[in-house]
Amino acid sequence: MTNIVKGTKDILPAEAALWQTMESAALKVFGRYGYGEIRTPILEHTELFARGVGETTDIVNKEMYTFEKSGRSLTLRPEGTAGVVRSFIENGMHRLSPPVKLWYKGPMFRYERPQAGRLRQFHQVGAEVFGIEGPAADAEVILLAVDYLNALGLPDLEVELNTLGCSACREDYKNNIRGVLKSELKDLCPDCQSRYDKNPLRILDCKNLQCNAILAGFLNQPMNPICDECGAHFDEVKKLLDAQNVKYNLNNTLVRGLDYYNRTVFEIKFGLFGSQNAVCGGGRYDGLVKTLGGPDTPAVGWAMGMERLASLLELIEPEKTDAYIVCDDTSAAFTLASQLRTAGITTETDLSGKKIQKQLEKAAKTARYAIFPGGKQAGVKNLATGEQVSIANEDLISYFQNN
Ligand code: ATP
Ligand code: MG
Repeated sequence: MTNIVKGTKDILPAEAALWQTMESAALKVFGRYGYGEIRTPILEHTELFARGVGETTDIVNKEMYTFEKSGRSLTLRPEGTAGVVRSFIENGMHRLSPPVKLWYKGPMFRYERPQAGRLRQFHQVGAEVFGIEGPAADAEVILLAVDYLNALGLPDLEVELNTLGCSACREDYKNNIRGVLKSELKDLCPDCQSRYDKNPLRILDCKNLQCNAILAGFLNQPMNPICDECGAHFDEVKKLLDAQNVKYNLNNTLVRGLDYYNRTVFEIKFGLFGSQNAVCGGGRYDGLVKTLGGPDTPAVGWAMGMERLASLLELIEPEKTDAYIVCDDTSAAFTLASQLRTAGITTETDLSGKKIQKQLEKAAKTARYAIFPGGKQAGVKNLATGEQVSIANEDLISYFQNN
């Protein structure tokens, strides 16, 4: 027998329900914000990611699934933004009146060490807004992410917020990090020692525990000096979030793993997963469209890891069925179930002729009410309180509509 590929996963029916929930909430919330769905190919030319994600990133250096066909190097997409930007340019979307708002979902591939919440084929849902330079777009995409998580019943999230400034600010930021870490250099991991010269911002994103411990000592030190313009932009983002009661923590060591970010960057975390605690990451990437051959176009967006979302949703108690018909007359149960479902009441019934006691046990686990049909009326038992009432058949539907 051939086994499943390491780092990939089957989604079986019991779990697929969670995925349908994530997808339908996405349709609803993105629709409310006026985003259109875009579906780009999983296969792209390797150079798209080399240029778009950045040659010095872990993704491009170590994590891509790349192969040759007819002399062309192709890669299974490791993330969604580069493909969306390619399509944006190729389809002339820069000529549309801004903002152009797009969302996507689908599988991504990264050759990483598999562990809980970290797979080699995983899924992201993401959003991108093109054409708006001002801070309202940053605030709107963050609010969109928060609204989406709230719509899924996940309120206890932590938004971490930082600004990387413009390219001039970033040079100062890098030099400050070099200054602060100079005396600690020998204790950083080998990767970070080479990042120190090439791209010290990356050190802040390292997963190595010793590097994390060293950095923790500098958490409150102001390291990212930003120019007046970038400062005003960031202040306005915070003001807009405050006005919507979006809680956030300022974190001046927050950077993102990809090269293309500028100004606002953010992550959304849940305290549950150790180092796999980030469920959403994003920010502004004003240079990317131009880097990939399009006209200068500001942009901001985010991506969420759907496996990590699914693990959070698993912790929420599944919603119970309204009614479970407990009855040894399969045909009567079938007819009543059909009437209730037609009226919009979620109804479960046993079609296998199980003993009444077994049916009741299942009802107690999965439903709010048990119904015991009996001639012209039915017993209706509230399974949370144990209270039972007798309801005339013709009043059953309205009873459920009111309870
Ligand atoms: P991490 O710091 O956890 O490696 P990242 O910075 O590489 O994340 P992004 O590239 O910003 O992540 O992707 C956005 C989201 O996609 C992450 O917050 C996470 O929820 C999810 N994600 C990234 N890589 C994986 C993976 N290998 N398996 C599962 N989910 C992932
Ligand atoms: Mg990563």
